[in-house]
Amino acid sequence: MQIKTASRLGLLPPYLFAELDRLKKEIQKKGVDVISLGIGDPDLPTPAHIVEALKRAADDPANYRYPDYQGLDRFRSAATDWYRRRFDVKLDPAREACAVIGSKEGIANFATAVVDPGDIVLIPDPGYPVYFSGCVFNGGEAYFMPLRKENGFLPDLEAIPAEVARRARLMWLNYPNNPTAATAETGFLADAVRFCLKNNIVLAHDLAYSEIAYDGYRAPSVFEVPEARECAIEFHSLSKTYSMTGWRIGFAVGNETLVGALGRVKTNMDSGPFQAVQEAAIAALEGPEDSVREYCAIYKQRRDLMVDALQELGLSCERPRATFYVWAAVPKGYSSASLTERVLKEAGVVITPGSGFGKGGEGYVRFSLTVSSERLKEAVQRLKALRL
Ligand SMILES: *Cc1c(COP(=O)(O)O)cnc(C)c1O
Repeated sequence: MQIKTASRLGLLPPYLFAELDRLKKEIQKKGVDVISLGIGDPDLPTPAHIVEALKRAADDPANYRYPDYQGLDRFRSAATDWYRRRFDVKLDPAREACAVIGSKEGIANFATAVVDPGDIVLIPDPGYPVYFSGCVFNGGEAYFMPLRKENGFLPDLEAIPAEVARRARLMWLNYPNNPTAATAETGFLADAVRFCLKNNIVLAHDLAYSEIAYDGYRAPSVFEVPEARECAIEFHSLSKTYSMTGWRIGFAVGNETLVGALGRVKTNMDSGPFQAVQEAAIAALEGPEDSVREYCAIYKQRRDLMVDALQELGLSCERPRATFYVWAAVPKGYSSASLTERVLKEAGVVITPGSGFGKGGEGYVRFSLTVSSERLKEAVQRLKALRL
């Protein structure tokens, strides 16, 4: 039989990291010792007290059954308590918080909760690919907001045409930002909230990197802007903060109607995160923060190593105040893809072409700082030998 898959699959570009992974395996097969600075997946282990909490919870048969759809009450309280301590933002755990199976899941499903066919979704370009996937899977129309260096990689809200703003239902923002590593101040988030309230747009803020910060920088929550409670939802993940990408746990907080709508979608699509993982996540959110500080110090050291080396090599980049990425402009004569390809084939180093995050990323590549300093130094040596 001729199998026909849904036409929506045809609307997606190949998932960036799946494609990079295939290329990497191809080169590895040739015996090359590949250094991966591609995907942003922490190499540092999940802190021991969190792993211990999982082990204890895995011994309790009460955790073997279907979890609560929205997450354990105690998990949601741990999340909102953490928000109060971290951002001085008070949220009701019962109505304004929902567990997600990693924030990628929540981000994708949130579009189902708010986007109708024909609605415009305002998406940062370059940006995390899932904002676009969620949009097109639900019949939405993407309007890309370019993130330009001259604007500090913040979207220019004034440049959004009135007609687009009128038809827009949802805006995605993500600061600290992947892939540009840019940060936003509360003032910018306040401008975005004002813009969204004026135009009846739901504001979704992806806060996956709030805790990976340096040089005294403290990333704000959108809910530090009081009016955000009227129009916004924020997605938080334990993946980056506690090196828990494989555990699949995060949460969404914010406007009660928005959190409730996400919860209704999820009730019909999944059955919540494994309760033992929620127990471990409670231990993470309520436990000591030493590991977070320690890991940030390690990333900072790697950041300085990489930024110094890239600047020496003539790849222009900023020294980021947050995230474990360095976003660098490609040298003259290269595109994002041609530099990525040459670096992989001739140096055995995987980096991510900026163009894989959208047209606005063309001319840039992203380096992940998720390997040891020794491996980073080795990568730098190999890059030097290329004489870019
Ligand atoms: C890593 C990442 C996420 C989500 O990670 P999960 O593991 O699904 O929680 C979300 N947004 C951005 C921008 C990311 O880089």
